Amino acid sequence: MESCKRVEQMLSGYLDGELTQGDRQRVEVHIDACPSCKRVYDDLSELQDQVGQLKLDRMSPSEWSSIMSNVPIKGSRSIGWILLIAGSVIISIYGMWEFATDDTVPALVKTSLFSIYLGLAFLLVSVGWQRLVERKTDKYKDIEI
Ligand SMILES: [Zn+2]
Repeated sequence: MESCKRVEQMLSGYLDGELTQGDRQRVEVHIDACPSCKRVYDDLSELQDQVGQLKLDRMSPSEWSSIMSNVPIKGSRSIGWILLIAGSVIISIYGMWEFATDDTVPALVKTSLFSIYLGLAFLLVSVGWQRLVERKTDKYKDIEI
């Protein structure tokens, strides 16, 4: 009888159909008699099935179209929000920097503008936060037009 170690080494070749007739029979005889190698064989063959099912060319056209219609829309909506928020933040920081370094602008104006920018930043954050919360709680978010 073959040793378990040797049979385990031959199992993947057995599943791929790469063994000689003699080796195939040796593996089959051993698996029939040895529960632990049978279990390894079952695990390996199940794994091979799952890998096979993951292959993209096995996906049906309807599966493809459902993925293509769902992912980009949600993705582009998120990207739109990220760009909007990032742009607002950058222009705010730029505006604040321009005013803070301009000596001709009175300190009172600088302070007021800083306060306005800070207020806008807080509003932006709260709106963004509200949207996040709504996304999590609203189950019918995809129906909105
Ligand atoms: Zn064995």
